[in-house]
Amino acid sequence: MRAYWLFKLISNNFLVKIGPSITYRALQFGLPIKPLIKATLYKHFVGGETIEKCGETIKSLWKYNVGSILDYSVEGAETEQLFNETRDEIISTIKRAKGDKSISFCVFKVTGVAKFSLLEKVSSGLHLSITESAAFSTAQSRIDEICKTAYDNGVKIFIDAEESWIQNAIDEMAEKMMLFYNKTEAVVFHTIQLYRHDRLAYLKHSFDHSRNYGYYPGYKLVRGAYMEKERERAVDMHYEDPIQPDKAASDKDYDEALRFCLDNIDRISICAGTHNENSSLLLATLMDEKVLHVIIQTFGFRNCWV
Ligand SMILES: Cc1cc2nc3c(=O)[nH]c(=O)nc-3n(C[C@H](O)[C@H](O)[C@H](O)COP(=O)(O)OP(=O)(O)OC[C@H]3O[C@@H](n4cnc5c(N)ncnc54)[C@H](O)[C@@H]3O)c2cc1C
Repeated sequence: MRAYWLFKLISNNFLVKIGPSITYRALQFGLPIKPLIKATLYKHFVGGETIEKCGETIKSLWKYNVGSILDYSVEGAETEQLFNETRDEIISTIKRAKGDKSISFCVFKVTGVAKFSLLEKVSSGLHLSITESAAFSTAQSRIDEICKTAYDNGVKIFIDAEESWIQNAIDEMAEKMMLFYNKTEAVVFHTIQLYRHDRLAYLKHSFDHSRNYGYYPGYKLVRGAYMEKERERAVDMHYEDPIQPDKAASDKDYDEALRFCLDNIDRISICAGTHNENSSLLLATLMDEKVLHVIIQTFGFRNCWV
């Protein structure tokens, strides 16, 4: 019932538009709205304020065979100290997930451990100053520490995809991490956003890279979460919209990416990061067609998650 009323409310465009500024002002003026937020939005979308407090949610989901992904969702951090704290918290989620079947994966956003403006500069191929180069190599070390901890503890880790204008830097780091830690199986998973019209080609290119360099890639396939922002920026800055022309085109490339990964399932591990019923059904059908169910029943299925 809570989900029903919540989703009914947040499907109202007007409310969603004015909601953030009203909430922000109410918090600024010290109005007592925190308990209201905690009992509604927060309760639905947040598993817990600390790793320990997530325990109950993880347990209650696992009763129904639903695994959890521990996600320390900090965004917009800008200081080295905050980046280090975020790295440490992500590492704690990995250690908590070690050996626990109910926590299927851990995940992080590169912008939680690296400055957005720096990623933007690297992505556009601009020359970095000495200070910026040093900051970028520190950020790369944080990412390496996170992925190495995942590798050492046998925990699979997703690197989220973000805005297209910082994604080149994220791609480069994700490929490097897969090269280091996916020598015998996928530990690090790169995320591919199929709402971008260039990403199906990128997926194929990335797979070729993995074959040439002898590692096993992991891909989280998603449609993408920043559509409005992407379109607005492309108009404002007069460049080609990186997003597909319409929803049908995103759906088509998403399903094509699923087919491509399943065709190469001997080398690729995937997570289908979607709520879309047709894509989920397609994946189940493809698994069936490829007689993967025999493998699942016989050996347990290791390379595919929805
Ligand atoms: C486990 C998991 C991990 C995720 N990780 C990431 C991540 O790392 N990075 C990220 O960006 N997102 C991520 N997402 C969010 C995801 O990208 C989608 O926004 C969200 O899941 C909704 O898409 P869908 O496939 O579930 O379903 P649907 O409801 O079928 O698709 C909605 C999506 O279709 C696309 N779309 C809608 N209208 C149009 C249009 N007019 N033209 C073109 N495309 C359109 C948009 O991407 C929209 O979000 C993740 C989601 C899940 C479940």
